[in-house]
Amino acid sequence: MLRLTDVQLPLDHQEEDLKAAVLARLGVAADDLIAFTIFRRGYDARKKSAITLVYTLDVEVKDEARVQKRLAGNRHVGPTPDTSYHFVAQAPAGLKMRPVVIGTGPCGIFAGLILAQMGFNPIILERGKAVRERTKDTFGLWRQRELHPESNVQFGEGGAGTFSDGKLWSQVKDPKHYGRKVLTEFVKADAPDEIMYVSKPHIGTFRLVKMVELMRASIEELGGEFRFQSKVDDIEIEDGQVRGLKLADGTHIATDHVVLAIGHSARDTFQMLHARGVYIEPKPFSMGFRIEHPQSLIDRCRFGPNAGNEILGAADYKLVHHAKNGRSVYSFCMCPGGTVVAATSEPGRVVTNGMSQYSRNERNANAGIVVGITPADYPGHALAGMEFQRQWETRAFELGGGNYDAPGQLVGDFIADRPSTAFGSVLPSYKPGVKLGDLNTSLPSYAIEAIREALPAFEKQIKGFSMADAVLTGVETRTSSPIRIKRNDNDLQSLNTRGLFPAGEGAGYAGGIMSAAIDGIRVAEAVALSMLDSVSRG
Ligand code: FAD
Repeated sequence: MLRLTDVQLPLDHQEEDLKAAVLARLGVAADDLIAFTIFRRGYDARKKSAITLVYTLDVEVKDEARVQKRLAGNRHVGPTPDTSYHFVAQAPAGLKMRPVVIGTGPCGIFAGLILAQMGFNPIILERGKAVRERTKDTFGLWRQRELHPESNVQFGEGGAGTFSDGKLWSQVKDPKHYGRKVLTEFVKADAPDEIMYVSKPHIGTFRLVKMVELMRASIEELGGEFRFQSKVDDIEIEDGQVRGLKLADGTHIATDHVVLAIGHSARDTFQMLHARGVYIEPKPFSMGFRIEHPQSLIDRCRFGPNAGNEILGAADYKLVHHAKNGRSVYSFCMCPGGTVVAATSEPGRVVTNGMSQYSRNERNANAGIVVGITPADYPGHALAGMEFQRQWETRAFELGGGNYDAPGQLVGDFIADRPSTAFGSVLPSYKPGVKLGDLNTSLPSYAIEAIREALPAFEKQIKGFSMADAVLTGVETRTSSPIRIKRNDNDLQSLNTRGLFPAGEGAGYAGGIMSAAIDGIRVAEAVALSMLDSVSRG
């Protein structure tokens, strides 16, 4: 098979144009072409009036070796690399030992799936409820201001990414093509086929719910076992080796291998691990607001006359500004055509985030506009960053009126430093509601100063970005984990606790659905190899 890269065609090209482009690139006759598939489809929108689609194609031709030899100097033609997944181990028959995975976010699901596919029969523990029941509880906060501390946007089957935009790209290095395995498994679980080839695939909330259920069913079929409403609240460590776990209901589970895929919001679990002496370091994260604009403004700016084109979909953006006070401000988790959601897991706190449906056809575009925070901003113990997040989430709750409304301000008023009293042309989507006022005291003053400088600067990249009626809603604090539960690079076990495999976003080794899932695969492989090693040592 040959891979052709950078095949460019106009946005409105016909299907047969693709075949013609393949023949032209390879210089072969139609009879010599056996088949071709699209490996990747992106677009180049630098010239808005002449947007092109950019393809990577895998092509089967007759006498491939001859064609390849003739095009040896062409950097856009070469052999298709093997991106298929190869298991690193297989459990021996009759193995009694079972690994335990804590958490059913993308990291835990993929760790569980790979362990199950290799025959290790994992037990998968989740503090929250199965996804359908969880969905009702999550809506409870959005519609009735009722927070369920163990079943919400952060906790429950599917993890934090279930109520999300379902963006599936990541910038992590992936030399073993684990990302491909993730996409393949998602498609098996009923994700749209296009996620295999579009350059910025996304799934949207409703589909994710069904996919999570289907993935659970396949893990169970392979011998894995899920236990919901099973919060791990203690870990048994003997001479630096994990020996077991205790659940909140008193159940004890003996195990020597634990995948810790608990996400960035399991603050009580972070405290428990710290108290038990598991090595934890503070790490940088970011805090800021969600911003909402009309999606049509973003579409026009990015796609010009092609705004609204079905192939391009709703436009996104990515922005960075280095402020004079030394802080970086950047857009985070941009959700085209989506909604801002209440994402707290703790009573008396307000946290924002964003989600969308597959169609991305809501009125507003939203994104986090966040400022980098480092451990120097919250000196103290390993968990001081978590306390810092709590402090600002509590402040947001107070400013919102103490009923889970989020505090908000119009961009024009925020820049001019005056309180807002009425919405303009942009209505915020956050539920249960937004209380307009003054965001000045909702974040540290250096963050406010940096965002105030950044918004007009972003106007240079997206005309209208600092429009007076755009709405800021606060606060966005859970952008990534405030800690790293450090692990060895070689066997992926905790620096000081053998048998404990910190993984995914909560442990500080991922940021986003794709990178968390990839880390889950990596850690599952490490667990399997360690278990085989234990078996061989008797
Ligand atoms: P999580 O998904 O957080 O899963 C951790 C799980 O562990 C949870 O289910 C939790 O209940 C469970 N758990 C915690 N403690 C315990 C315990 N003690 N015992 C038992 N179980 C426990 N990322 C993207 O890439 N694209 C997006 O579009 C996107 N949108 C997002 C929208 C929202 C609203 C949110 C909140 C996040 C979004 N993210 C998105 C981020 C993404 O969801 C996370 O990066 C990802 O889910 C991290 O995966 P994880 O498996 O490491 O942890």
